[in-house]
Amino acid sequence: MAKQTTQKSALIVYAHQEPKSFNAALKDTAVDTLTKLGYTVHVSDLYAQGFDPRATKDDFTGPLANPDHLQYQNEIKHAYEHSTLNDEIKAEVNKLRRADLIIFQFPMYWFSVPAILKGWFDRVLIAGFAFAFPNNIFDNGLLKGKRAILSLTTSGSETMYSDRGISGDIRVTLWPIHYGTLRFCGFDVMQPQVSFSPGFSPESKRKEMLDNWSKRLEGLQKEAPQSFVSTDSFDPQKWFVMKDEFIEKEADNNIAPSVGHHLGKKLSSKK
Ligand SMILES: Cc1cc2nc3c(=O)[nH]c(=O)nc-3n(C[C@H](O)[C@H](O)[C@H](O)COP(=O)(O)OP(=O)(O)OC[C@H]3O[C@@H](n4cnc5c(N)ncnc54)[C@H](O)[C@@H]3O)c2cc1C
Repeated sequence: MAKQTTQKSALIVYAHQEPKSFNAALKDTAVDTLTKLGYTVHVSDLYAQGFDPRATKDDFTGPLANPDHLQYQNEIKHAYEHSTLNDEIKAEVNKLRRADLIIFQFPMYWFSVPAILKGWFDRVLIAGFAFAFPNNIFDNGLLKGKRAILSLTTSGSETMYSDRGISGDIRVTLWPIHYGTLRFCGFDVMQPQVSFSPGFSPESKRKEMLDNWSKRLEGLQKEAPQSFVSTDSFDPQKWFVMKDEFIEKEADNNIAPSVGHHLGKKLSSKK
């Protein structure tokens, strides 16, 4: 009988052009730390791979489900189900399938991810593999059980990304990725690791950021993921609007249930 292995596997989806960058140092720190912790670590180095961010019909190697009208989401689902995805996507799907922990390492670009990483979301988080509407979304997404964490750098300082800072609360900035992308597919979404402003920080501060990341990863297993409003609080019969009983239950709570489902209330002061 084959020996059962309990070895954990991590995938780092890394989006930076420059091996001497601070993002590269964060990626290397994660590789070293996770390897020491006994993980098998794979890296998708998107720029080095020449990953194509465009969602096009070149993603499919077999006949299209509807050659008269390209509906990308239907076609990629069809290609996934018929094993006719192109090799680039297949390789990423296989790496993601094997991973228990997925780290997205990137510099913030325009309050979001670089285009190359957005392209990875667009092409790899496939209907039928990552989610299936309407039954397998959010709490029931098909990637349920996997943990995901955004590790990003910014130019802006921590004060700029506070609720009183000029750039606004970073939890709001990251909500579309945390909830609209990762939670939608069922991931347990960990709090982000934000290394603020490495380019305007002294060397000692940058070293501290790398150490903090390594220590965070050492304790990650014990951390609880972010909490979101549970999916069964929304009524599928009414196009997933929040159920009245949930709103009533929240009536005496002064704090917003989540960033997006704020019900006009304050966000928690806890990060
Ligand atoms: C198109 C675009 C849009 C952008 N949009 C935003 C935005 O919306 N909001 C925002 O805040 N920023 C934005 N930025 C800025 C961007 O987020 C930062 O430039 C980036 O996060 C900095 O990270 P880096 O890895 O590129 O830093 P780097 O410039 O590569 O590195 C910073 C410093 O760390 C040093 N370093 C490297 N390795 C180590 C190591 N091992 N130990 C110690 N030091 C090391 C480097 O030598 C360098 O001095 C944008 C940038 C672009 C290009």
